[in-house]
Amino acid sequence: MSAPIRPKPFLDAQYCKGCLRCIEACPRDCITPGTEINPATGLVPVEMNLENCNGCTLCMQACPEPYGIRLETDRTDPDSDFVLEDPAKLFGERCVPINSEGDLPEDSIALPLCETMVLKGTYASAIGALLAGCRHVYGYPITPSTEGAELMAKILPKLNGAFVQAVSEVAAVNMMYGTGGAGLPVMTFTSSPGFSLMLEGISYMIGAEVPGVFVNIMRGGPGLGNIAPEQADIKMACRGLGHGNTKAIVLAPSTPQEMLDLTREAFALSFRYRNPVIVLGDGYLGQMTGTVRLPATMSRPGLPAWAVWGDRKHRHNLISSIALAEADLETHNEHLNRKYAAIATCEQRVECYRCTDAEVLVIACNTPARMAKGAVEAARTEGVKAGLFRPITLWPFPISSLLDVLPGVQRIVVVEAGPGQLEDELRLALSHAGIMPPPIESVRRCGGVLPSQAEISANLMSVEEVLL
Ligand code: SF4
Ligand code: SF4
Repeated sequence: MSAPIRPKPFLDAQYCKGCLRCIEACPRDCITPGTEINPATGLVPVEMNLENCNGCTLCMQACPEPYGIRLETDRTDPDSDFVLEDPAKLFGERCVPINSEGDLPEDSIALPLCETMVLKGTYASAIGALLAGCRHVYGYPITPSTEGAELMAKILPKLNGAFVQAVSEVAAVNMMYGTGGAGLPVMTFTSSPGFSLMLEGISYMIGAEVPGVFVNIMRGGPGLGNIAPEQADIKMACRGLGHGNTKAIVLAPSTPQEMLDLTREAFALSFRYRNPVIVLGDGYLGQMTGTVRLPATMSRPGLPAWAVWGDRKHRHNLISSIALAEADLETHNEHLNRKYAAIATCEQRVECYRCTDAEVLVIACNTPARMAKGAVEAARTEGVKAGLFRPITLWPFPISSLLDVLPGVQRIVVVEAGPGQLEDELRLALSHAGIMPPPIESVRRCGGVLPSQAEISANLMSVEEVLL
């Protein structure tokens, strides 16, 4: 009795990414690498010659694309377009986010003791990313962030990684979407105008809950502005990450050491919450050199259970920011809101310097915080009870710590190299907390000019005269 004839597969070229996994899987050598670009996708699909095919379906099982290879019997009309079905119906509901069940855990590897190094901020950030296990960096060069990408371009090929200089920031962020969706640590270096171009993609990543780290070395704006330091992207990072209900942790380093430490930490936060994280430096910090010590360990990343990894085990996973039914999208936004609330509660970070008895509280971040610290020291020598409150997370704003130090404070002075966006974050956080603050003054420069210690000191002393 002859064996039943099994149906043979067919290739839907528009869904083939040309990964070649099916070629390795086929025992009859029915599949070969393609030679022509599919004009609809810009990719090169494989080619099938089914003369020797026995219908074993091993190619289907190897294909990570749900619609790449299917059985002839599933094709009702070979000439008709394939109608997309609801992926949830085909593969079950998407993975529940922030669920560590099934994750391949990350490893911590001890590092040998190392001499203290002197590094510029962008290099320190790149090293922080490498120590976090990041091996994929995409970007488009833009001063004053370029050196970080340049270092990655030199190092990553030697580490089995990839650096791609994309055709634009729009392309770079979408490459990040893909790599982050595969569960891999991924990052970019950019600066203000480039960050603006990435916002749409960041919204998609937030919607699809894809991790990724954006190091934005802020420069003068608006428009092309200049390449000098400014802090005018605080509003964009904290309030304007593309369309829709978007939020991301915004870390504000103030030294090259923090550029390393916070970039490294950004990856951990990004995977913990399945959300992009922004490291917001300024042009001075990106270019300045400072002493940097390496941590005691580095990370070998694991693989999250939700990753679209391209193997059978992860085939049911779906990375998408679309939810066409209104109720589904509302449910998804409610889920995002719960995540944002958890972040706001758990991830506030701040440095409080001489705040315990402070009557004049200086609030500053990034490079201006360094001048502010000098001014606080100088004021203390003159008998002025000044303190520095330095938010390390700009979103969430560290309002809990601020409420702890506010009772003795008679005046707040916000120091920033920008038009008042840090002050806006402060006022918004106070308003949400229902707190009527003491009078708020400001020392502001912009256009690439940093507030000087002398300017801040003059303000602190004049404040003191008013108080006396
Ligand atoms: S069904 Fe089996 S024999 Fe046929 S192409 Fe696929 S892997 Fe090759
Ligand atoms: S495994 Fe699927 S996506 Fe990969 S080359 Fe084959 S048909 Fe294309």
